[in-house]
Amino acid sequence: MPRYEYRCRTCGDTFELSRPMAESSAPANCPAGHDDTVKLLSTVAVGGTASTPRPSGGGGGGGCCGGGCCG
Ligand SMILES: [Zn+2]
Repeated sequence: MPRYEYRCRTCGDTFELSRPMAESSAPANCPAGHDDTVKLLSTVAVGGTASTPRPSGGGGGGGCCGGGCCG
């Protein structure tokens, strides 16, 4: 089931809902219960901004599974 992102114009919160495509434009309530929400563009097909790799030489706070220490 596709996920859609919505933004509440009352509290400014953004939230995601999984709902059938047929209901993608149906009204959605924000987690706080407001119904003045707008559907945002799908973020599925975005391109561009590739995550730049962190400069090497770290060693603090990264994930562990990249260095083969998880075996
Ligand atoms: Zn709200």
